[in-house]
Amino acid sequence: MNIIPIETKEKTTRIAVVRCDTVSEACPGVACFMAFNKRTNHFKNYNKNVEMIAYFTCGGCSGRRVYRLIKSLKKFGVDVVHLSSCMQMEDYPECPHIDSIKKTITDAGIDLIEGTHH
Ligand code: SF4
Repeated sequence: MNIIPIETKEKTTRIAVVRCDTVSEACPGVACFMAFNKRTNHFKNYNKNVEMIAYFTCGGCSGRRVYRLIKSLKKFGVDVVHLSSCMQMEDYPECPHIDSIKKTITDAGIDLIEGTHH
């Protein structure tokens, strides 16, 4: 008799990254994707059951696009949103709206991770 192994179906974690619209003029996002693909830095705790389902900019000060897109991502089952490292690093423009952007994410019941590749 053949024994068929029971596969445990783990839930896939769906993640997204929000990044600075101003910085996106000069940055194609390679460092964020490298960190995600290699599961380093702020992505290191994910196993292979994770999908990056969105990578979007805030829409410019004051982060006008975030509320709308977070609402949309909820429909696609996003579990975690990362704030890109460029929104928080000293050698990038300081984001004056970061607290309200964070609140928009957490108020939607989505886990927030502060950082991507740094
Ligand atoms: S709101 Fe913050 S993240 Fe968005 S463009 Fe302005 S400084 Fe950048």
